[in-house]
This record gives sequence, structure tokens and C-alpha cells, in this order.
Amino acid sequence: MKNLIVDILRNNERFEIITHEGPDEDAVGSSRALAYGLLSMGKMVKLVYPTPIPSSLLFTPAPKNHKSVKPQISILLDVSDMNMLGGLHPRGEIVIVDHHKTENKEGMTCWIDSRKSSASEMVYDLLRAMEIEITQAIASNLYLGIFGDTGGFIHANTTPRVFRIAYELARAGADPNLIAYRVRRSKSMAYFQILCMVMDRMMMADGVYGSYISLQELKRIKAKPEDASGIVEEMASLAGAELVIFLKELNPDTVHCSMRSKSGQSALRTAQAFGGGGHERAAGFTLKGRACENIDEVVEEGLKWVNKG
Ligand code: 5GP
Ligand code: MN
Repeated sequence: MKNLIVDILRNNERFEIITHEGPDEDAVGSSRALAYGLLSMGKMVKLVYPTPIPSSLLFTPAPKNHKSVKPQISILLDVSDMNMLGGLHPRGEIVIVDHHKTENKEGMTCWIDSRKSSASEMVYDLLRAMEIEITQAIASNLYLGIFGDTGGFIHANTTPRVFRIAYELARAGADPNLIAYRVRRSKSMAYFQILCMVMDRMMMADGVYGSYISLQELKRIKAKPEDASGIVEEMASLAGAELVIFLKELNPDTVHCSMRSKSGQSALRTAQAFGGGGHERAAGFTLKGRACENIDEVVEEGLKWVNKG
């Protein structure tokens, strides 16, 4: 399927690249790198983010954005679930490039490979297949995406191939130290305030650890949406946690759930039970109601899957 995508990229002139709401390192890095590649082929590219890029992820080079372009092709990058487009409607013919395991995309033009660490790894493959030079700007963005989705080269998706690509990207000018520090060592005070509240009320039952943060608490400490990103990873670093569940209120009646599991498929299975998806060990979903009203039910569902091994 990669070759089909390469043909589409070669044979069209006007693209829009859309990624998921709440763009993370992979969404930002993969979209910017692909845009640079297409621009180097003389194409017009519009970059679309359903919600703004967090200010902490604005440090990599940004390509020119042809905002007024009417796209022939809408490339959905790193989007596992159409509900993660924030209600945005692609304007061109849809082409999906993704590394998530979820959703039936039969009949759609797509290249989906859940063995890839990240959408950024897939963009690297596309650029190499099209013999596009990996410039420093491209390398920095791809490295950011791979670093983000492998959790800084620690998750199970950190394959030998990932290290080979990271090596190539570092050789092409990506700065591993700068990127690691920008992603890992620039947490806000609000992040730690959230962490304190989350740890304080953590429910721990048979390897399933669950906690939450309310909208009121987020408002009280004037948290920005991105201030809670990374909290679930922190919970997962606790000894004994097999499955961690973190609920965050998005608005007065909507809660987002992020999960991580250390082994097995409990994160994905629990997410699917609530209509969500993701990967075996990192998954999520959105549900109605308040966090404090839902946490027990999600933990109970998690316990079913953890005990299945
Ligand atoms: P995170 O916890 O970092 O937000 O998400 C972890 C993984 O779960 C990501 O791969 C993401 O695609 C998936 N995920 C998070 N939220 C949702 C959601 O609401 N729906 C679906 N289908 N997947 C989600
Ligand atoms: Mn990704």
C-alpha cells in the first residue's frame, strides 16, 4: 500500500495534511516533515490541525503553509478515529497513513501498519521511497515524532529499525539532546500540580491504577490543555501498575480517558469496550459525564482485561 500512496503523492499537486486534535509530537513531526517533502517536489500543501499545536511543540522548523489551497488530496496522518478530527471535514479525496490498530478502514485508500512505531516512521519511509533528501528540518520533525511515540525510545515499539532511522535522522541534523530536553524537561508548574492531585487520589486495585482530574481543578490552577499530557505516563511508571487509567474532564459533561498497559492488550480492550481505540498498550476514548462518576466503571472494565493476561 505504500507504493499506492507514493503514486498519489507524485501524481497530484494540491494537498492538505490533517492530523488529530490535541496534536502530539508524532502528529506535529510527521505532518511537518511530509509537508516539507511535498513542498520540495513543488507541490502546494495546506497543514490543518483540528486544535492548535501546543506551544511546547512549536520549536521544530515549520514549513510554508498554503492556507488557501483547494486540495485534491486530504492526507489523514496519525488519525486512528474520525472522531479525533474535532468535527473538521477533509476537502479532498481522503488518503490515510496511520500506525494505529483500530477501526475498519476497508474500502478506503489507506496505508495502515501497526508495526510501525509512529506516523513519523511511515513518513520517513514515504520520503525515502520518493528519493527526497532528508534535510535538517525534515530530520528534526521526524525525530521529534519518533521520540514522542516511543516515549523516548522506551516503549515496545522501539525496534532495531527505529534506532537505525533515529541514527539516520541524527546524522541528517536532528539534535537528540535538544529534542529530548524540549519534550521532557520543559514541564509547567501546572503539570506537577495536576500530578500531585492525580497521585493523591489514585485508586489501586489488582494492578489497575486509576485516577482523574476535574475541569474545576484544571481551571483553578489555570492549566492549559497540554499541561496534563504525560500524566498517564507518570502513573505507568509506578511499580506494580499493569494498567493505568487517567480521566481528564474536557468540558462539563465530557471526559477523555488515556490508558497505558505494561503487557497484554488490556489498554486497547478496555478502550474498545467504551468505543475507543489506539494500540495494545496505549489507548483511549471519550465518554459523557463527570470523571468522578465514571472512574469506578472504567477501573472495573480494566480489571476484567488485566486478569485475562
Ligand atoms: P493518549 O493517551 O496519548 O491520548 O493516546 C494514546 C493512544 O490512544 C493514541 O494512540 C491514540 O490514538 C489513542 N486514543 C486516545 N484517545 C482516543 C480516542 O478518543 N479514540 C480512539 N479511537 N483512540 C484514542
Ligand atoms: Mn502516532
